[in-house]
Amino acid sequence: MAVKFRDYYEALGVPRNASQDEIKRAYRKLARKLHPDVNPGDRAAEERFKEINEANEVLSDPEKRRRYDELGANWKAGMDFTPPPREGEPFREQAGGTGEPFRGSDRFSDFFDTIFGGRGGGAGFNFSARGADVESDVSISLQEAHHGTQRVVRIPMEEPCPACGGSGTKDGKACPVCGGSGTQTRVESFTVNIPRGVQDESVIRVPRKGGAGLGGGSRGDLYFRVHIQPDERLRLRNGSDTELEVPVAPWEVVLGSTVSVPTLDGSVEMRVPPGSQGGQILRLRGKGLAKPGGGQGDQYVRLKIVVPSKPTDKEVELMRKLAADSDFHPRKSWN
Ligand SMILES: [Zn+2]
Repeated sequence: MAVKFRDYYEALGVPRNASQDEIKRAYRKLARKLHPDVNPGDRAAEERFKEINEANEVLSDPEKRRRYDELGANWKAGMDFTPPPREGEPFREQAGGTGEPFRGSDRFSDFFDTIFGGRGGGAGFNFSARGADVESDVSISLQEAHHGTQRVVRIPMEEPCPACGGSGTKDGKACPVCGGSGTQTRVESFTVNIPRGVQDESVIRVPRKGGAGLGGGSRGDLYFRVHIQPDERLRLRNGSDTELEVPVAPWEVVLGSTVSVPTLDGSVEMRVPPGSQGGQILRLRGKGLAKPGGGQGDQYVRLKIVVPSKPTDKEVELMRKLAADSDFHPRKSWN
């Protein structure tokens, strides 16, 4: 992914061979002039202030400055810049060519993240690392998937220990707060918006709400994997289609009938044609789960023939009569 090249020397108004002192003086002078407190509400000044801070971040640090200078002197501000591959790292990955969005930080430009941050890879880049991605599961009902819902999810997040700033040491000894690990765990609450028509096992990404970054690196991303639970009668068949089994009496399928069937939009009257068989599947078009792009899947209804387990005398009498008078032979083809 190409980003706009930034000329940090130009931003501070210093030559490429400026000394550390010259850089420091130039930055301080500009920072006093452009500070947001001095220019309330001035967006242009705010942008310039960010720009000089970024330039100072790089040029005041000899290691970062060396990395930056290695890019060469022929770049001009605003040029489309594609980073060179890092050692041991294929070019396409670093350039974000795997199809995932490039992850930057709020504090610095995409250009800065491309050179120094983001993937926190190779030697010399370690002072700034993007936080870890965090994945969590969210279970919702079919009804919630159908209408959309919100969930408050509490997730334990690891972050740098505030007492030692993540170093794990304080006054030359192991930090008493974190015991030297440099991290602490804080439970954070998130409200997840789950859109109408969400698919089972789909993943909702919340950018920059994952693990804390180090040294100015951005937070990782937060991912919620959605699991749709079947309800008492309805379950997902595939994608946005639903299915359920409907118990029917023998005479309802022989004679034909109208049966009330639950769907995600409430009950609908379904016609059972005369002569329908047990196990037969009928389709209610457009009565399934909402689809992500609009519309609805279909609902499949399987007919299950049930008989009275404790028939009344009257029912037994009718069955006897049916058995005596019927010419129906269910296993005729076996003979
Ligand atoms: Zn600590």
